[in-house]
Amino acid sequence: MRFASLGSGSRGNALLVEGSDTLILLDCGFSFSETVQRLRRLGLAAEDVNAVVVTHEHDDHIGGVARFAARLGIPVYLTAGTLTAVAARFRDVDCRCFDPHAPFRIGALTIEPFPVPHDAREPAQVVFDDGRHRLGVLTDVGVSTPHIRTMLSGCSALVLECNYDTRLLAEGPYPAALKARIGSRFGHLRNDDAGELLAALDRSRLQHVVGAHLSESNNHPELVERVLRLALGSSEAAVSVAHQDAGISWIALE
Ligand SMILES: [Zn+2]
Ligand SMILES: [Zn+2]
Repeated sequence: MRFASLGSGSRGNALLVEGSDTLILLDCGFSFSETVQRLRRLGLAAEDVNAVVVTHEHDDHIGGVARFAARLGIPVYLTAGTLTAVAARFRDVDCRCFDPHAPFRIGALTIEPFPVPHDAREPAQVVFDDGRHRLGVLTDVGVSTPHIRTMLSGCSALVLECNYDTRLLAEGPYPAALKARIGSRFGHLRNDDAGELLAALDRSRLQHVVGAHLSESNNHPELVERVLRLALGSSEAAVSVAHQDAGISWIALE
């Protein structure tokens, strides 16, 4: 299995996961042309993508999904709650609902969804499993839960939200209501919480951790790297940070 990010942050998210002959796009918050351009960077064409999996209806995750999927004639997998929120915009799309507690298969990959606390209708995050490796993805989550820890334990790679540094958010330019939303149990994960979660997981198989969905106003990649490395302790897993524009290049699991 290998994975890459087309971009990560509040201005758009899209993650690519490839196993054997199956290529899945997880969310797509970019316009069609922007997505094509970002795929080209990774040596891919839009036609290479087999399916889109959607985590929730916020625009930085679904902004480009309907157009992309309709143009290519590929299915979109989403929860019934998410579909309720996007139904009007997804009329021309082959939508397939998944239960956020039930694994399902797309080609060579098994997708294990799990529900998360976030201010959307029925948000779910996912673990990808190719039979050899598990890639856990967790962004757009207010707080961690015991179920999230269970799902992410034993993964070979993690894409983990590190949205904000507590001090930078408090001192930053956002209005009080937005600060409260981000910091709430249904908002976004702060660096220290991501570190605590990582430290609590079974990391015996972990090869890579990618910090993701960083706030451009309330965070710095160096802060994220420091928190993640500290949480890893003596583990030799590699740490990287996904960028809003550059995303992250292919990471292959061995
Ligand atoms: Zn988001
Ligand atoms: Zn969101």
